Amino acid sequence: MNLTDNCGRPLLNLRISITQRCNNQCLFCHREGEVKRANASAEQMTVKEIVHIATIAVSLGISRIKLTGGEPLMRKDLPEIISGIASISGLKDLSLTTNGLLLDGIAKKLYDSGLKRVNISLPSTNSETYHKLTGGNLQKALAGVKAAIEAGFCPVKLNMVILQDVNVGDIPAMIDYARQTGTILQLIELDPINVTSNYYQTHHHSLDEQEQMLRETAEAIEKRPFMHNRLIYYLSNVTVEVVHPIENTDFCMHCTRMRVTSDGKLKPCLMRNDNLTDILTPMRQGASDEQLKQLFIKANMLREPYNRGK
Ligand code: SAM
Repeated sequence: MNLTDNCGRPLLNLRISITQRCNNQCLFCHREGEVKRANASAEQMTVKEIVHIATIAVSLGISRIKLTGGEPLMRKDLPEIISGIASISGLKDLSLTTNGLLLDGIAKKLYDSGLKRVNISLPSTNSETYHKLTGGNLQKALAGVKAAIEAGFCPVKLNMVILQDVNVGDIPAMIDYARQTGTILQLIELDPINVTSNYYQTHHHSLDEQEQMLRETAEAIEKRPFMHNRLIYYLSNVTVEVVHPIENTDFCMHCTRMRVTSDGKLKPCLMRNDNLTDILTPMRQGASDEQLKQLFIKANMLREPYNRGK
């Protein structure tokens, strides 16, 4: 059984934010659409609560879960979160998005806990640009990519948010790096959330031009119907995906996702905070699984395409 919203969009994916803490300070970060909270660490969910929410979600037909944040590797109990979720019967896919800075040394443990694929944020392979954008050390991030590959994660995807006048020119080098490392490159258009309108106007770069270039050079192109109709371009010995949400109504019309905020609220849309459903408080107050399922059902009915087109 799958939940479907008022627009007929199935609910298949859950993106759980497990912390607001982060060891990078990416200038472009949308923080998964969360409002920054002063007491975020105290409010974050326990391992048991995260696994419980994931179990309810899977019982309602959600089969793909991604862990995010903040930086998920800031949590020392990440291996327990992973092994708890990975053992839920009916779950088809568990993944993690990370900046990779702490992966070296723990990648194998995460793999052995049940995580089989990762996305690593890498906005540039130029150390100066990387540092300017994230505040972090490129060599550590690259060590994280290497550790992920060696641990056996497959695929390892590189998430590159594209920023006008900052890293557009780094795309060819990123494609080469993905080719050399056998990773998949995701080019991501900047979302206008949790960045100032001035930052957005200065740095938003439409991916139309890049998609045109990819169309011309691709050996094959595929669509991911249950992932916003995203396009995958198979170039010579390297795969490039494009996440192009802006002015792309197809993206919202094919959204199959819900989020859980780091303080345990069901969040139907990245772009909105006015329709959240608190699931953590009722859980802490002893709500039954049936009552928790009803909260999911309610939140699912609040899902609606942010961009509907004309
Ligand atoms: N710290 C982790 C990381 O770096 O992957 C997880 C959190 S980060 C918010 C999750 C993903 O969101 C990353 O892949 C990042 O590239 C992407 N992202 C962050 N800000 C974005 C924005 N304004 N527009 C589009 N994608 C963004």
